[in-house]
Amino acid sequence: MNSSTGLQALEARLQQDLDLLELPAKAWVPPRQYQGEQVRDVVVIGAGMCGLAATAKLLLSGIDNIVTYDAAAAGQEGPWVTFARMETLRSPKTLHGPALGLPQLTFRAWFTAQWGVDAWEALDKIPKAQWMDYLVWYRQVLNLPVHNGVRITGITQQESLIALELSGAETGRVLTRRLVLATGRSGLGGAAVPEFLRHVDRHLWAHSADPIDFAQLKGKRVAVIGAGASSMDNAATALEAGAATVDLLIRRKEMPRINKMTGIGSQGVVHGMFQLPDSWKWKFVDYTATMQTPPPRASTLRVSRHANAHFFLDCAINAVTQQGDALLIDTTQGEMTYDFLIAATGFANDFHGRSEFAALAPHIRSWADGRYRPEMGAPRASLLQAPDLGPDFAFRERQPGACPILAHIHCFNDAAMLTHGKVSGDIPAVSAGADRLVRALAASLFAEDVETHFANLQAFDKPELLGDEWIDSTPLLKQENGL
Ligand SMILES: Cc1cc2nc3c(=O)[nH]c(=O)nc-3n(C[C@H](O)[C@H](O)[C@H](O)COP(=O)(O)OP(=O)(O)OC[C@H]3O[C@@H](n4cnc5c(N)ncnc54)[C@H](O)[C@@H]3O)c2cc1C
Repeated sequence: MNSSTGLQALEARLQQDLDLLELPAKAWVPPRQYQGEQVRDVVVIGAGMCGLAATAKLLLSGIDNIVTYDAAAAGQEGPWVTFARMETLRSPKTLHGPALGLPQLTFRAWFTAQWGVDAWEALDKIPKAQWMDYLVWYRQVLNLPVHNGVRITGITQQESLIALELSGAETGRVLTRRLVLATGRSGLGGAAVPEFLRHVDRHLWAHSADPIDFAQLKGKRVAVIGAGASSMDNAATALEAGAATVDLLIRRKEMPRINKMTGIGSQGVVHGMFQLPDSWKWKFVDYTATMQTPPPRASTLRVSRHANAHFFLDCAINAVTQQGDALLIDTTQGEMTYDFLIAATGFANDFHGRSEFAALAPHIRSWADGRYRPEMGAPRASLLQAPDLGPDFAFRERQPGACPILAHIHCFNDAAMLTHGKVSGDIPAVSAGADRLVRALAASLFAEDVETHFANLQAFDKPELLGDEWIDSTPLLKQENGL
């Protein structure tokens, strides 16, 4: 078996499964126009893993007047082959991820179809570029309507519809009834940048999600802030590129060692977290943030195997000062001098940080706007910023009536975690998240068109019985009874 015939056979099996399950379901949403312009039923922004899973689930559910846009070129979506600097995924290879309950759509099926069972057994973790290859196949085999190289630059209200401004490979505007923001970790804000870096010249530092020319770091003294996976990946990449020294500046007294949320992962967590009272949601997410997720062991060893790598714990940064082409960093362990700094400081849900959300941002209700109550626990800034979403992932308005289209804009990305649990960011439960999202979209599109559906019910006149299947015996009975 060569890899392409293996893949062809897999694709045939997938097609058979879809046929057996009568998927995709028949299209059922009545078409809409606005002043002669076509109106989409759903637009998805982002064709990373979450956007692909949502798009696939919509199509399988018979909602086919949809389109998905991604600013990135095809095959470059998300972090995997851009700013992800790990060698492999952290996740176990067996996760079924975006497969939506279809065994032939899993990474495992895709891998074994091409390289066989022995190679599967030998595989430890999934190389990150291979995960991207799988996502490319996923999109192709399901024929998902993804348009690449198109950035959404503005989102406004057009009566009851949502108007999107496009730039790049397609321009102009597109109208849609529902919008899904599958815009990723940075998708509702961007990189979280510590205050002490804001005044520092950009040629001396980068965020871990920036493009970084690591070759330029050869022979340089590099500092990396943080103790998470991204700090290890960036430190290791700098070391492998020949940096003179790489220091990890870690505020904590100890490295986090236990991956708490992964430890309790279960279908209970996937389906139950979002039904819990808000106080419990806060407790879980706040505790997890306090304990922090450790970097993977392999990523940490990838750094520590270099003699010129140093881990400085209990080393908080007080200030960063530019001194010519160097950085003087004042830390709780004293002053240190570097040529370059990488801030592996994560992402923020600051809606004001993204121009495409400018018209919506002032109206989006966050947990700080009343959903958080002090008795839930300490007021952690990153959680207070989280959007206060409905059960359908839709945003809510700060002032009722000020921006009604928010009820039709669904936040299917990492920012949904506090309200929904981890179903719209990481690999393990993305299919459950896509299912929850699409059920809600189907219900709301159906409800909005209820008059049309009722009219269709009344107008439907295809008989099942033709009238020749039975004889009415009542006249005979009447005759017998003398009536
Ligand atoms: C470095 C790294 C490693 C990770 N490793 C793992 C792991 O091992 N296991 C795991 O479970 N999770 C992991 N994750 C978490 C998660 O799985 C990934 O972040 C994943 O990419 C999330 O998918 P997504 O679709 O939400 O976002 P993304 O994959 O980031 O996709 C978002 C897409 O939206 C597009 N976009 C955004 N704004 C616009 C716009 N205005 N117009 C058009 N397009 C737009 C972007 O171009 C992008 O392609 C990792 C995350 C990172 C950052």
